[in-house]
Amino acid sequence: MNKTVLVTGASRGIGYETAKLFAKGGYNVALNYNQSKKSTEALVNELAKAGHRAMLVQADVACREQVVSMIDSVNKRFGEIDVLVNNAGMAKQALFTDISLQEWDRMFDVNVKGMFLCCQGVLPAMIRNKSGKIINISSVWGMTGASCEVLYSSTKAAVIGMTKALAKELGPSGIQVNCVAPGVIDTDMNSDLDENAFEDLKEQTPLGTIGKCIDVAEVIAFLASEKAGFITGQVISPNGGFLI
Ligand code: NAP
Repeated sequence: MNKTVLVTGASRGIGYETAKLFAKGGYNVALNYNQSKKSTEALVNELAKAGHRAMLVQADVACREQVVSMIDSVNKRFGEIDVLVNNAGMAKQALFTDISLQEWDRMFDVNVKGMFLCCQGVLPAMIRNKSGKIINISSVWGMTGASCEVLYSSTKAAVIGMTKALAKELGPSGIQVNCVAPGVIDTDMNSDLDENAFEDLKEQTPLGTIGKCIDVAEVIAFLASEKAGFITGQVISPNGGFLI
């Protein structure tokens, strides 16, 4: 029987590419979006035309009711979820002193609470089945911190802590929890960066380039595969050598 993966934030960028890769790998793929229905629907149709099994599910990952109903829809269509990719996320550059309480709470709600809710939603079945894979997307900024990204860096560091602790708790239940912490990847999330900033980042990267979504998607797919059977609680960072 085909395995089922839920990819959050699959409407664009890294999540979009990851969903495509899983579909090509024979998974049933549930693509979550929050606002970008059009692009997600287009990808689901494209995958279905190519003979893959894909569905779209709307949910704001920060809202428990919506997450519960999303997981329920996936279970009804494809059965229990074997792989959860917690990819949905937001970022914003700001001076620390300018961050409002609302901005602080919202980013933690999406980037951290969203993962907590999605994990709690899929875990009862994974624990019952004594198998499952959870892959959480952090960032190099969660490992090193970035100026003018204190809030984002804090949420992404929390993702690493959650991954490691959860891996310890769930290892005895046969569930693997890992983290992917990409370097700078060419997506909408970096659309604020101008040409000069991109050139600077390339110069600081030993491989001399910005990453592509597929570079991250391949690492996620590997961690979900049988080849990664002895890996848990790890942070894998596709970053072109930006952080060594
Ligand atoms: P992106 O192109 O901006 O896409 C963000 C995705 O997250 C979209 O699909 C968006 O869905 C979804 N999303 C945002 N808020 C959501 C919510 N409340 N509920 C459900 N979905 C929500 O970003 P990306 O660059 O692909 O980033 C994907 C992940 O990689 C994020 O966790 C990000 O922090 C991480 N990351 C990115 C980079 C980078 O350089 N790009 C580097 C390191 C880590 P809608 O469009 O439907 O709202």
